Amino acid sequence: MLKGNKNKLSKDYQIDEIPYFLEMLEEPIVDYDCSVLCRDSKDDMAYCCQPGNALPLLYKTEYQYLRTLSDFWGEWKPTTKEGRQMLEYAGENQIFAECSDPRNCKRKERSITCRVFPLEPYIDRRGVFVCLTFMQSFLEYDEDLGRGKCPLAMHTKDIRQEFIDSHFLFWQSLLLRFPREYQIYKSSSASLRKYNKKNKSDIILFYPSSYKNIKSMRDYI
Ligand code: SF4
Ligand code: SF4
Repeated sequence: MLKGNKNKLSKDYQIDEIPYFLEMLEEPIVDYDCSVLCRDSKDDMAYCCQPGNALPLLYKTEYQYLRTLSDFWGEWKPTTKEGRQMLEYAGENQIFAECSDPRNCKRKERSITCRVFPLEPYIDRRGVFVCLTFMQSFLEYDEDLGRGKCPLAMHTKDIRQEFIDSHFLFWQSLLLRFPREYQIYKSSSASLRKYNKKNKSDIILFYPSSYKNIKSMRDYI
């Protein structure tokens, strides 16, 4: 491409790309509503939909797009020192946001973060994106709840292959586009290996159909 060509593709997601990505992430993760596993009987809310447990981080263009649909999403405004420190985790093209009614999800208006939860890319020892894994922090035990944070971790066999396949394609395109995010997942995968080695446990991995029968894919896990 010619230097200075104004038509070159921007690195950031453009607003008209967002519906395509949201559609790509429509596959349900399981064949049932997994919030039955974690709905808090007191608050009647899924664990991952409570901002205190998982605060959605949206691309700014994604936020702009969702705001064209309705006012279901609003910018998250921190009220504490810890909250203000959280803002440092957002990239320049990202914004923390919260939906206005977590008890009544507008499924068609879920953010990318809501749709991909609770899986994320796993980058192997070579630095290659080979599969998805469970977000480590949601595997942790919650003392107050007396169980793991996301109970779906105990039902990994229920996770649909169609979900894994379409999400793998989504992440592949995202990691190529955003080197910062590739580095984040490279580092979280390394820390997952370290944690599992120390605890003599296995990493939970979800391979896309195209890689499932390739044994050499396991060599650098
Ligand atoms: S993904 Fe996990 S935390 Fe979220 S609704 Fe399903 S079981 Fe609950
Ligand atoms: S949009 Fe839906 S899935 Fe996302 S946080 Fe709100 S209620 Fe939960």
